[in-house]
Amino acid sequence: MSDCLFCKIAAGEIPCTEVFSNEKFIAFRDIAPQAPTHILVIPRSHIAGLSDFTDADQVLAGELMTIAVKIAAKEGLVPTGYRFVINNGVDGGQTVSHLHLHILGGRALAWPPG
Ligand code: 5GP
Ligand code: ZN
Repeated sequence: MSDCLFCKIAAGEIPCTEVFSNEKFIAFRDIAPQAPTHILVIPRSHIAGLSDFTDADQVLAGELMTIAVKIAAKEGLVPTGYRFVINNGVDGGQTVSHLHLHILGGRALAWPPG
């Protein structure tokens, strides 16, 4: 989608600090980190959010999760733990309408969320 911020990042039109890339996904550091490690994993294809997943996205959804697990391990987060977050819609706190999984770690995270 031409006016989508994360599509532009995926296309290399807007710079990012990349930590992983393959033909279907890219992961990069959040511009406003909420924890010492804060990485976003996104599909290169434009999917607005979780609500837009269909049965056809089952493989993509699984790959998103497993790629994030590998990144968390590579970032050294396994011994202390980490959290994945996918905000969806207004009440979910989603501000960028391109599906993204947050990897948060490096400090003890509060629960429940605000
Ligand atoms: P959301 O609130 O939609 O779940 O998360 C959007 C995230 O994207 C936020 O954590 C925000 O800091 C991050 N973000 C917004 N604009 C940019 C940008 O231009 N570059 C990067 N790397 N992260 C961004
Ligand atoms: Zn997009």
